[in-house]
Amino acid sequence: MSKFKYQNLTGMHDILPTDQVFFKKINKVLEGVSHYYSFDKIETPIVEFAEVFSKAVGTDTDIVGKEMYTFRTKGQDLVCLRPEGTAPVMRSYLEHGMHNLPQPVKLWYVGPFFRYERPQAGRYRQFHQFGFEAVGDKNPSIDSQIIQMSYDVLKELGFKNITIEVNSIGDSECRPYFKKILTSYLKSKKSSLCSDCQRRLKENPLRILDCKEEKCQRVKAGAPQIIDHLCEACHAHFKQVLEFLDELELPYTLNPYLVRGLDYYTKTVFEIIETSETGTSLGTLIGGGRYDNLAKMLGGRDTPGCGSAGGIERIIEVMKAKEEKAGGSKKPEEAKIFLAQLGQMAKMKSMKLFEEFRTAKIPVAESFSKDSLKSQLRAADKMGAKWVLIFGQKEALENFITLRNMETGTKKEITLDKVVEEMKEKLKNNK
Ligand code: ATP
Ligand code: MG
Repeated sequence: MSKFKYQNLTGMHDILPTDQVFFKKINKVLEGVSHYYSFDKIETPIVEFAEVFSKAVGTDTDIVGKEMYTFRTKGQDLVCLRPEGTAPVMRSYLEHGMHNLPQPVKLWYVGPFFRYERPQAGRYRQFHQFGFEAVGDKNPSIDSQIIQMSYDVLKELGFKNITIEVNSIGDSECRPYFKKILTSYLKSKKSSLCSDCQRRLKENPLRILDCKEEKCQRVKAGAPQIIDHLCEACHAHFKQVLEFLDELELPYTLNPYLVRGLDYYTKTVFEIIETSETGTSLGTLIGGGRYDNLAKMLGGRDTPGCGSAGGIERIIEVMKAKEEKAGGSKKPEEAKIFLAQLGQMAKMKSMKLFEEFRTAKIPVAESFSKDSLKSQLRAADKMGAKWVLIFGQKEALENFITLRNMETGTKKEITLDKVVEEMKEKLKNNK
């Protein structure tokens, strides 16, 4: 038997305490933006029937074809770890008959997602996404609202150099026709395509437009553009989306080759990228679009929808790079009061006092595991505490505490039952 050594699975990572601050910050921004736009939170399970994705995202896509964690349960159900959030949200909408609610139903989510990808910068096998979904409305104003909210999240997080790329990929009316034109162009250039794209030519020719290979980029430059082949309805819809974006003064550019990888998209697609404030680009931070065919693909009634999803790890990586450039992170606000103790009885009583401070919502730092007063004072000094409350043996016996002002060195004795109130007063005057 080979010896087991503790380690994470490839592409999976721990979110250590130092990273939690970023998650917290992002979560706060998400809550704020969602609340303002009246999007309610939804949580769907991490495990779904594999068909939720194979039917909706499509088996010819990277996500389902190559990257999905699929397995059979003991009950022989074919299930998977969710690779994305839109199909489960639509599954939930249909299952709970949310068409009976006022439309659109506006939902948001955040949580872990799983894709068996080749790990590299900004690409993990377990990662976190947040998403906004507005289900049950065709109106182009919804598309622009989703784009605005996605942009808002990054803006609120302090991102400056961000651009929105938009395109329309038509619908079942005009896309099959465009696919034909594109395929015949690409066939004539087949030998100039990378091997992946030569294969894609049969299965998913639109995806070739998304290929990052240099060879394919050149072929792409001469390719027909879907925008010239939209049916009247898609054309009118897209025009209105752009008018809304103009009115909202959102910095967008048209990218006629933006297609996005999933089968369920129709009409508007968009991506938000960071244009390298930090000198590096981590690719797309947020992507989304309209998915008017998704509900039908899942076997439900015809229901339009539009949404977006953002990659939290990628956003955090940019935030970290920016922080480094700005000369390190800002220290979180530390407690101004330090509670020091000496001796067993004092330690026990100060643990109780510490809890009283918590109830009074007064932040206090402590070091109960240390026994020496010297090392506790050193800790207090290091964190820049203004006051140290010293609870020694004498104090514990006589129910008082010694307050030392670390700036002036002055000392004062306070009876135990007055200490919380007095410190509250001191903090108030210290503002
Ligand atoms: P890419 O083209 O970079 O593979 P994608 O089109 O597969 O991205 P989406 O399915 O649109 O990505 O997911 C939305 C966002 O989630 C992406 O823009 C990205 O920020 C993030 N994301 C996607 N895959 C990963 C991953 N493996 N690790 C970390 N973040 C990811
Ligand atoms: Mg991908």
